[in-house]
This record gives sequence, structure tokens and C-alpha cells, in this order.
Amino acid sequence: MQDNIVLLGSTGSIGTQTLDIARDLGLNILALCAKSNIDLLEKQAREFRPEYVSIVDQDLYLDLKYRLKDMNIRVLTGQDSLTQLASLDKAQMVINAIVGLAGLRPTLSALESGKVLGLANKESLVVAGELLTQKIKFKDQLLPIDSEHSAIFQCLRNNKKNQVDKILLTASGGPFFKKTREELSCVTVEEALNHPNWSMGKKISIDSATLMNKGLELIEASVLFDIDPKDIKIIIHRESIVHSMVQYIDTSVIAQLSVPDMRLPIQYAICFPERVFSNLNKLDLTKIKNLSFDEPDFETFGCLKLAIEAANKSNIYPCVLNAANEEAVNLFLNKKIKFLDIESLIKKALENQEQIKNLKLKDIFDIDTKVRNFIKETVR
Ligand code: NAD
Ligand code: MG
Repeated sequence: MQDNIVLLGSTGSIGTQTLDIARDLGLNILALCAKSNIDLLEKQAREFRPEYVSIVDQDLYLDLKYRLKDMNIRVLTGQDSLTQLASLDKAQMVINAIVGLAGLRPTLSALESGKVLGLANKESLVVAGELLTQKIKFKDQLLPIDSEHSAIFQCLRNNKKNQVDKILLTASGGPFFKKTREELSCVTVEEALNHPNWSMGKKISIDSATLMNKGLELIEASVLFDIDPKDIKIIIHRESIVHSMVQYIDTSVIAQLSVPDMRLPIQYAICFPERVFSNLNKLDLTKIKNLSFDEPDFETFGCLKLAIEAANKSNIYPCVLNAANEEAVNLFLNKKIKFLDIESLIKKALENQEQIKNLKLKDIFDIDTKVRNFIKETVR
């Protein structure tokens, strides 16, 4: 089991659930970090007594330092503190639960400094998959904290990669399953945030409503498991009990099932390769009775189609897709655009892009900035 954990994004949905597990297992937290939720961060620091705490928003630094003055904690601030924490000598494991591209540099830093990395921040794998996997220093250094990818990771264990036929990536379908384009054109932010099976941060909740989340997850899976996007099949599974499956060449399908609760994939990553006792609710299939499986509706949920196209083209396209999506989702959350505008903006951003040979990290940040500016200008 990993100890001395650096937890980035501790105040979010994954962050707080990671601390539930740390509390249950009695783990030592070496560092906590959040963007701006100073009240919760202070509360977490008092409970877990880490050696380091970082508040990324520099305007809040002095306030946090003052609040924690009675404790022996080093208080840091700024985006650079993320990479510093991700590479602390004493850290055994880094858990990256930051949302969005802001998670990329700490992901890189954790891999480069040889830490075991529990990765919830799927955006870093989406935009810079190849660059990141090149940095992996040892087997199982990178452990997925996404229910589907944790499931696939488990289904792949003790089997040979060249015997995999397909990854079957399950999707709940989100709050707007079976809705028509016309109905989608007038859905509200509140409706979009209301996921049927999971309680998550705002950005991923909107991604789940557009099905972009599943598109990002397809890219994430193709990077993590080194598999052609064409060999990943998305299946709508409303109950979120089967978290994903792997089909082998002999036609066998291996699945991982559990009650939907992110604390399970978090605990699995922390305890890997062991399994330890958990108090989470147990699955009782006789109560659930039925599990359903459907084809996705790529025409109604156009973001999913765009993501799959970007996955197949690879190179800069996943980065363009992600930047446009992050900006568009922000605009939607701020009620500046309508739900279906998310899709049309991303589509526009993906047009007229050119591949870059020998893609470097700098290119990725440049493209990201350019696409974000393009979206802002288009909507202004
Ligand atoms: P959230 O919005 O609830 O929390 C985000 C965390 O990141 C917060 O602690 C916030 O302070 C921090 N943060 C935001 N911007 C930052 C910045 N610029 N620098 C440093 N920290 C910053 O999000 P979440 O739902 O916990 O999701 C986190 C990541 O995990 C996302 O990439 C998401 O796709 C992934 N994920 C989440 C779930 C889930 O159930 N919530 C499931 C699977 C994967
Ligand atoms: Mg997921």
C-alpha cells in the first residue's frame, strides 16, 4: 500500500473521496493542494496534518499562511508549486485529481521523478498521451483513477495484450439519454449537472451530459493500454454497474462490476497490487435484477463523434478537442452559450488544423492557448 501521498486537487470530488480512503486506511498525507477553496483546504490541513499545503490562487496565499500559523506546515502558492509537490523526495505516490489541462505539468513531473501516479486527471493523457507514456519509468507507475480505466486495468491483469480483441468501454449515457436534438437545444445548466448515477465536479458532469467524457475516456484508454481507438467499442450501460470489459480473441469477455462509487478505483490504485477490505456498499445483483446495454447515438451526441474522429487522427487533434471543450464547457456553465453550442464550437475549432511533426510539449501549450483564444473570440 502506498503511503506519504501527495494529493493534488484535494478539495474536489475525487480529492475529497481520496481523503475518505486515506482516513479509512490511516494513510499519511504528505501534501495537499487546491486552487481556491481555502476553507475546505484549511479544514483538510487540520485533519490530515500534511507537511506541505499549496493554494494555487496567489491572492489567497497570505490568508492561508495566517490561518495555518499554529501548525508546522509549509504553505506554497502558484502553479509552479504543483510540479514541486509532484516531485517531493519523500512522496511515494502522487494522486492527480486536478481538473483540466492544469493537471498536465504535475502529471509529467510525477512521472519524471519516478513517483507512482494515481491519475484522475484524464485531460493530461488526452492532450499529451505519447509524450507522457514515454516518461514512464517502470511497470504500473501510472495507475488509472477513472472507474472505466480501473476496470479495464483489472480485466487485463494476467492476460496477454496480443490476445485482446476489443475494449468494451461502458457509458451511463448521462442525464440526457434518449433525448432528441430538439430537446437538447434548450436544456439548462442545472439539468446538465444532474447526473443519474454519479456526483462529480461541474466540468466532468457537463462532459458526461454531452458524452464528451466518453470520447475523452476513449482517448485515455487508447493511450493507457496502447490500443488502437478503432478497437475500443463504446456501449451505453445505464446502471453503471459494469464499469467496462475486455473481449479476448477466444471471444471471452471479462468485466469488472461494483456499485458505482469512485472510492473503489481510488482505493484500488492506492493499494495496488493488493486488495484490502472495504466498507463500501456491496453489489447485490439479485436486487438490481437487470443490466441493460445499448448502442450510443452518435448523431444526437455529436461531441462523442468529434472525439472519436480526433482520437483516430491523433497528433494535435485531441489537444484541440480538449482545449475547445474546456473553454466551451466554461461558457456553457456561465450561461454564455447553449448546450448544443458546445458541440458546434468544438467542431469549428477542429477545422483547418494541421498536423505537427515531432510534437513537443511547447507545441501542445501553444495550440491549447490558440484554440482557447479562438473560442473566446468566436463567442464574444
Ligand atoms: P472538481 O472540480 O470537483 O475538483 C477539481 C480539483 O482541482 C479541485 O480541488 C480544484 O481546487 C483543483 N483545481 C482546479 N483547477 C486547478 C488549477 N488550475 N490548479 C490546481 N488545482 C486546480 O473535479 P473532479 O470531479 O474531482 O475531477 C477531477 C479530475 O478527475 C477530472 O480530470 C475528472 O475528469 C476526473 N474524474 C473525476 C471523476 C469524478 O467522479 N468526479 C471520475 C473520473 C474521473
Ligand atoms: Mg469515467
